[in-house]
Amino acid sequence: MRRLSIGVIGCGTAGSAVAIFLARAGHHVTVYERVREPGPVGAGITLQPTGLHVLEKLGLKREIVSRGARIDRLHCVTHTKKRTLLDLHYRHASDRFYGVGIHRGVVFQSLFHEVQESGVDLRLGVSCVDLERAEPAAEGFAGGPGRSAPRRYRIVDDEGRRHGPHELVLVCDGARSSFRDDTDLTKVVSPYAWGALWFVGEDKEKRFRRTLYQVVEKNQKMLGLLPSGTGPSGITPLVSLYWSVRADRLEELLSTGIERWKDEILDMVPDAEDLVFQIRGRESLLFSVYHDVRMARWNTRSVVYLGDAGHAMSPQLGQGCNLALWDAMTLADCLTADVELPTALDTYSRIRREHLAFYQLATRWLTPFFQGDDEGFGTLRDVAMPIMNKIGFTRKIMALSMCGVVDGFFGKTLAI
Ligand SMILES: Cc1cc2nc3c(=O)[nH]c(=O)nc-3n(C[C@H](O)[C@H](O)[C@H](O)COP(=O)(O)OP(=O)(O)OC[C@H]3O[C@@H](n4cnc5c(N)ncnc54)[C@H](O)[C@@H]3O)c2cc1C
Repeated sequence: MRRLSIGVIGCGTAGSAVAIFLARAGHHVTVYERVREPGPVGAGITLQPTGLHVLEKLGLKREIVSRGARIDRLHCVTHTKKRTLLDLHYRHASDRFYGVGIHRGVVFQSLFHEVQESGVDLRLGVSCVDLERAEPAAEGFAGGPGRSAPRRYRIVDDEGRRHGPHELVLVCDGARSSFRDDTDLTKVVSPYAWGALWFVGEDKEKRFRRTLYQVVEKNQKMLGLLPSGTGPSGITPLVSLYWSVRADRLEELLSTGIERWKDEILDMVPDAEDLVFQIRGRESLLFSVYHDVRMARWNTRSVVYLGDAGHAMSPQLGQGCNLALWDAMTLADCLTADVELPTALDTYSRIRREHLAFYQLATRWLTPFFQGDDEGFGTLRDVAMPIMNKIGFTRKIMALSMCGVVDGFFGKTLAI
């Protein structure tokens, strides 16, 4: 593909990864990020084998993994009876696979540093609000008979400044993307009623190691503990705690119930005493809401929607960051083909369809079994999940799903 002028909106996981890939491939890449001084914020995320594969391609895996915590299994138990519902090991999918619990800020720091080193034109503090059609590129276009010059867009920011023009615009502005909401592409965006409260604390004694540990009570309570490496400071081992809460009950928990909540956590995991002691108040907590975003395709002739902007989902399977990284790698691969830009972008949507369709359906299907208002789902889960965990075939499918490698509904897996 000839050298393109590419505008990337958002410098999160998807935006920074795709910018690095494309700048290295020789394109002229400009990234617009609304935050003036982006920093290492957020809580723990899980890097799955798919995300690790992409980071390896970017040459960042070793550095990032060294600051994370290796995860070998997901262990989920019920609170009252301490009955194991799920004990899923990465080795059930492949001996080569493992996960990495990591502070989101560490992934951000590495990607952001690499964006700065890759010759990307990085414009911070630019909050983009609109795309405007620009005049087509008349010069230098060897289109041939019947071919019109490619479309170009200018990106308009909230101060009315115009940037570009760009022949390709990559929308990577996250789950609440306003660009996605403005596009004519078919989409369904639904917020979940439930979200999660997060706390990241120190785990000096390394009590939580190698396991993502979850304690549940029906689908009304869910507590998770994810070892998260040494974090942005790079010194003390961290663990991320998440607690399922309905968005409309959050204020009640924060204003009156923090001490009661801490007791409840200790009742569920007595080992978390040191961690719970570190929770000082609402300032130390993060609340995340989830969105379910479905799009029939992720591209027009010159605009592509990547990461959460195109397919945000509940974090039940821990895939958000990994899917965003996979999008970035796939798009960069599609742009190496010697074809017209719209054809390359159509190929991107086609290649991504099955992988994304599987994870979107799987998370949408799974979420009410862990977080929801109908307790029947929790009861059904408590019966079915231990059985599925015992049968080799279903256990393997669950393990492959956790790894992020299931590529559609017909048993295909990604080659990594
Ligand atoms: C601050 C923050 C903290 C997070 N913390 C966690 C966490 O603790 N655990 C977890 O699992 N996931 C977290 N996430 C989400 C997770 O990082 C994403 O689900 C995943 O990495 C997919 O990445 P993405 O690039 O699609 O979106 P994001 O990582 O959300 O990145 C979107 C980027 O676009 C920028 N942006 C948005 N609108 C505009 C605009 N109009 N103009 C210019 N720039 C814009 C944002 O500032 C952001 O940098 C967090 C996201 C953010 C932004």
